[in-house]
Amino acid sequence: FTPDTIRNFSIIAHIDHGKSTLADRLLELTGTIAKKTSGKNEQVLDKLKVERERGITVKAQTASMIHKYGESNFLLNLIDTPGHVDFAWEVSRSLAACQGAVLLVDASQGVQAQSISVFHNARERGMKIIPVLNKIDLPASEPERIAEQMKATFGIDPSEILHISAKTGKGVEAVLEAIIDRIPAPQGAKEDPLKAFLFDSLYDRYRGVISLVSVQQGSIRKGDKIVSCHTRKRYEVTDVGIMHPEEVPTHCLNPGQVGYIACGMKQSAEAHVGDTLHRAGEKVDPLEGFKPAKAMVFAGIFPIENSEFPKLEESINRLTLTDRSVTVQRESSSALGQGCRLGFLGTLHMDVFRQRLEDEYDASVIVTSPTVPYKIIFMDGREKVVSNPTEFPEVTDSSTRVREVQEPVVKASMIVPEEYMGELMELCFQHRGENLEHRYLDAGAGRASRIIITCILPLSEIVTDFFDQLKSRSSGFASFDYEDAGYKKSDLAKMSFLLNGKPVDALAIIVHRSKQDATGRQWVKKLHQVIPKQLFEVPIQAAIGRKVIARETLKALRADVTAGLYGGHYERKMKHLENQKESKRKMKKMGSVELPQEAFFDMLSTK
Ligand code: GDP
Ligand code: MG
Repeated sequence: FTPDTIRNFSIIAHIDHGKSTLADRLLELTGTIAKKTSGKNEQVLDKLKVERERGITVKAQTASMIHKYGESNFLLNLIDTPGHVDFAWEVSRSLAACQGAVLLVDASQGVQAQSISVFHNARERGMKIIPVLNKIDLPASEPERIAEQMKATFGIDPSEILHISAKTGKGVEAVLEAIIDRIPAPQGAKEDPLKAFLFDSLYDRYRGVISLVSVQQGSIRKGDKIVSCHTRKRYEVTDVGIMHPEEVPTHCLNPGQVGYIACGMKQSAEAHVGDTLHRAGEKVDPLEGFKPAKAMVFAGIFPIENSEFPKLEESINRLTLTDRSVTVQRESSSALGQGCRLGFLGTLHMDVFRQRLEDEYDASVIVTSPTVPYKIIFMDGREKVVSNPTEFPEVTDSSTRVREVQEPVVKASMIVPEEYMGELMELCFQHRGENLEHRYLDAGAGRASRIIITCILPLSEIVTDFFDQLKSRSSGFASFDYEDAGYKKSDLAKMSFLLNGKPVDALAIIVHRSKQDATGRQWVKKLHQVIPKQLFEVPIQAAIGRKVIARETLKALRADVTAGLYGGHYERKMKHLENQKESKRKMKKMGSVELPQEAFFDMLSTK
């Protein structure tokens, strides 16, 4: 294939707008995968178990297909992009290897917040956008109205929009033709020195690291000696080919092609995403790389059973081979023992990682409350970024030489039908939103108009229950997106929880002063519910510095342990008694209070 018969594209879509279904249809139509008569969604590109279970794409995948159009065969490379805001980094790296994108919008739902940011990202890169309305088979679909909306939101001419049903296959062939007609062929000459852009890597137990590359110029063949611009290490290419949709060896990759190479990299850290590979002995300027992913949500992960730590750590390390945006550090806690502190791009990312970990590691883990990175600014101008509450100063005043504390804020945008506007405004205020603005998305306001609300929110406010509340308050209609908006001065404090007068390190959290009382009371209540009674009375306290904010008292265990218990509590306690022998082993001495790991699990895993 020469560059003029190659097209590299991705599909931009909000979750559930039909990206996986369209990808399946494209792969079928080009004979890349067999057509299924069952009509079942195969979701060929969603290889991870968690992706299939949750119906979301987490990791970008690629697939090549061959389509005959006119007289020629075209090589079409689909580079998949994840649909969720947390995975913005994965999105930008997939887009970097494409010249165009299909913007897929559900004709019954309309434009959603996340598609807007991906759209702008794609347009900034100078990519050709093919607008497509999906699900036109649904009676509830309103292609004309949504086309107007796309015009108002993106400035897209309605006559350019394709109308399809990815489910029935109607109009899908026209998508393939539009990809060939409208998306420019990749540039680059075969004679030029090799420049291959490394945009993803996989890890194979037997062959080591497999890199996914997009060849910008020159060609790469088996046996070539190549060098990484980033590490200056040399490798010999042992295998090269395309994803069709699984790996199919070809003897070489030419300009404009996207495929995989194996070159004996031992560790996945060697495959630096955004790196440029060139031939040994040739000098090239590296291609523009990426802003690296920035972890914004941190949490400690601990095994329920201390002796399980090595196994947990090994599982974490194995998983981070396939998800390089997760940062890992060891952490030890006097309450929970040895664990790891992980950094994630967002809370969905954290949930997904945790689920993958539980699938892989085959056991439950204790995850501490998520924290964002705070900036502590001292009197002398020094700055320190703290992403673990244990490192946060007990008090932040002149005695501790702290001038101010700053927290990360984001610019949030939400799209909702007009009738939910009041609810959402209130939600934003409750989460300390500022600079609230709104405008209509549909050109002519009228029936079921939709509005876009933007505001500045502290990141810490959206890592907890914000998404859930947004969904329930808008009956599921709201879509949400956010982007980094820097740091802002804030009135924050570290809240500790004390059992019998002793602080439990793993429970410490950072709170905004305006919410300290409510938060303190809520957590103390919860602790009171999950901690089993002891032989003596135990005060449970929430404190900021020396000041106690909330308190409950756990009464002493009576001779008849089941007396005075009721409802679900009763059953739980009975179970607890049965398991007492078992539990003894897992007890952690906390001062004089015995606190089982299960209590932590209960405390931190329920909302
Ligand atoms: P993704 O999250 O963008 O990958 O969306 P999926 O491809 O997983 O599709 C989400 C849901 O929409 C699935 O239940 C699909 O069966 C359904 N769906 C996708 N395309 C169509 C379509 O053209 N018509 C109808 N009626 N349903 C569709
Ligand atoms: Mg999908």
